[in-house]
Amino acid sequence: MKMIDPPPDSAAFTATTAPVRSRRRSLMRGFCRRCPACGGGALFAGYLRVRPACTDCGQVLETFRADDAPAYFTVAIVGHAAVFGALLSEQNLAPPLWAQAGFWLPATLIATLALLPRVKGALIGLQWALDLKPYAAFDAEE
Ligand SMILES: [Zn+2]
Repeated sequence: MKMIDPPPDSAAFTATTAPVRSRRRSLMRGFCRRCPACGGGALFAGYLRVRPACTDCGQVLETFRADDAPAYFTVAIVGHAAVFGALLSEQNLAPPLWAQAGFWLPATLIATLALLPRVKGALIGLQWALDLKPYAAFDAEE
């Protein structure tokens, strides 16, 4: 069964009926590159470009900005996995250096490219779940 929150801009959405923004669900929806509010619409228009708004529920998405955080977390995750794997294979198999480099360099590149949009989506989902104020709101107050 698919759980769908009511869209935030709908008339039925009030402070008393507002659903609790589940951090885990929003994070997983973002990780799956889906809108953190409804889980239906695509989060990205391209590889990493966030859509201005969700095509399904109208949730404004372009105001959530992850900046360098996705790259930081992706490098941390992939780097630890690649170094652990390379050391483990060196200890147990002791392959020649060309074989290590021939496997781990492309594997690291592929894992990084696969994980980067998912980490960015997860961070945007977490921002939405925490109801963080987008940059545009800070600019308007000044
Ligand atoms: Zn949506």
